[in-house]
Amino acid sequence: MADANDVLSAEADDHFHDECGVFGIFGRQDAGAIVTLGLHALQHRGQEAAGIVSYDGTQFHVERHVGLIGDTFTKQAVQDRLPGSRAIGHTRYATTGGAGMRNIQPFFAELADGGFAVAHNGNLTNAMTVQRTLQKQGAIFSSTSDTETILHLVATSKERDLNSRFIDAVRQVEGAFSLVAMTAKKMIGCRDPLGIRPLVLGDLDGAWILASETCALDIIGARFVRDLKPGEMVIITSKGIESVFPFEPVKSRFCIFEYVYFARPDSSVEGRNVYDVRKRIGMELSNESPVDADIVVPVPDSGVPAAIGFSQESGIPFELGIIRNHYVGRTFISPGDSIRHMGVRLKHNANRRMIEGKRVVLVDDSIVRGTTSQKIVQMVRDAGAREVHMRIASPPTRASCFYGVDTPEKAKLLASRMSVDEMADFIRVDSLGFLSIDGLYRAVGEASRNGEQPQFCDACFTGEYPTRLADFDGADNVRTLSLLANNG
Ligand code: SF4
Repeated sequence: MADANDVLSAEADDHFHDECGVFGIFGRQDAGAIVTLGLHALQHRGQEAAGIVSYDGTQFHVERHVGLIGDTFTKQAVQDRLPGSRAIGHTRYATTGGAGMRNIQPFFAELADGGFAVAHNGNLTNAMTVQRTLQKQGAIFSSTSDTETILHLVATSKERDLNSRFIDAVRQVEGAFSLVAMTAKKMIGCRDPLGIRPLVLGDLDGAWILASETCALDIIGARFVRDLKPGEMVIITSKGIESVFPFEPVKSRFCIFEYVYFARPDSSVEGRNVYDVRKRIGMELSNESPVDADIVVPVPDSGVPAAIGFSQESGIPFELGIIRNHYVGRTFISPGDSIRHMGVRLKHNANRRMIEGKRVVLVDDSIVRGTTSQKIVQMVRDAGAREVHMRIASPPTRASCFYGVDTPEKAKLLASRMSVDEMADFIRVDSLGFLSIDGLYRAVGEASRNGEQPQFCDACFTGEYPTRLADFDGADNVRTLSLLANNG
C-alpha cells in the first residue's frame, strides 16, 4: 500500500499541466486589482506563483509572490503597491528546477528608452541556443526562464523604436509564445506564427484587455472582442489599437490539448466553447468504444463534461460516483509514517452507495503515468463495483510537450512503453478504450486529421512536432526539459 505522500503526489502530478496564464489591461483605474481578478480566473493555468507589473504614469511597480493569487495578492498589496491605469500579470505552474522567485513573471527591466515588462504563456524551443549566443556577447541572465531571452533580444536589438525591436526579438525565437508586454506608453500582445497557445482580446468600457482565456474576461464583466490571430501582434496605446503580422504566414497549429484538459470549460477558445467540445469528445468516445455498463462515472473534475457526453450518447446513466475534495493544496504535507497504512485518499473518494454491485464506466481526460488511474480503479473496486471499464477522452499520450506544458519525459509516459492491453492490465480494468485521433478532430469540428498538414498541434499524441526543437537533442532530453519546459 502506498503511503500518504505517494497518494498525494500521484494524485497531484499525474496530469499534464499547462504552465501559465497571462492577463493585461490598458486604460482603466485600479488596473492592478483588475489584473488580480483576471489571474484568479486563470489560476487553473498555474497555481504556484504569480506576478503583476503596473504603471502609474510616472513609474512601474512590481509585485511577485509564491502561492495562490487569492492568498498572496491581498487588498493591501494590490491597492497600496500596484497603482495605475495599466498593468500586466502572469500566473505560473513550476516544477523542480523552475520554481523560485527569480523565475516569477512578468519580467521587468529598465531598457535604454524606459521600463519594459513581459509575460509569456508557452515555451521557446530555441531559448538556450539564443541565450548561448547572447552570453558570448556579454549578456548576463538572472533566471532560468526562456522568457528572459525575449527581454534581452528586445534590449539589444539595433532597431530604432520599441515596436520594431519587439518584432526583431520575436522573429528570432521559436516555439510557443502568447506574450503580453507593457511599456510606459503601450501594451503589446503577440502570438507565435502557429498560434499554439491562446490569447484573446477584450474590452471593459473602453479599456483594452489581453487574456489567455475568455473566462478571465467574464470575471470582470468585460466583452470578448476576438481571439488574436496566429502570428498577430497588437499594439495598444491611448490612441487605440493597431494590428500587424510580423511573421511569414504559416498554417496554424493550435494546441488541441487545450480542448481536452487545459482550458476552463466555460472558456471559448478559437471559436469553440470548451465544454461543448468536451461533451462531443465523450459522444465520440461512446461511439468508438462502447461498453455494456450500469453507470458512467467521471473522474472529477476534468472528466465530467466528457462523461456527460458519453452518458447522453450511450444512454447509460451518469452518476457522481467519485467525489473530489477541493481543499487539497499542492503543498499539503502528510503527518508521515503514522498514517502510512491507512490508504489515505486525500483528493478523491468513491461514493459507495452509487457504485456497489454496478458495472462502472470511468471517464477521465487522459492517462499520463497511470499511477492515479491505478489508484482510482482500485478505490472503485474497493467500493464494490462489479466491473470497472475505463474510457479516456483523448488518444494515448505518447510524447512530451515542448510548448509550455509540464510533462514527464517520454519514458515515463505509460502509453510510450505499453500497448493498450498492457495498460489495461497495469491499471487493472476490465476494459480500456481511448479516443482515436480522428475522433478528437471530429469533436473539435473537423472531418478528420489532415495527415499532410494537421490542423492542430497534437504532438503529444502523434510525436509530430510542428516546429524545430533546436534546444532538444530529442524528446528524451530530460535535463533540458527540466530546465526549460517549465517556465511559461
Ligand atoms: S504537444 Fe500536446 S500539449 Fe503540447 S502543444 Fe502540442 S498538443 Fe498541446
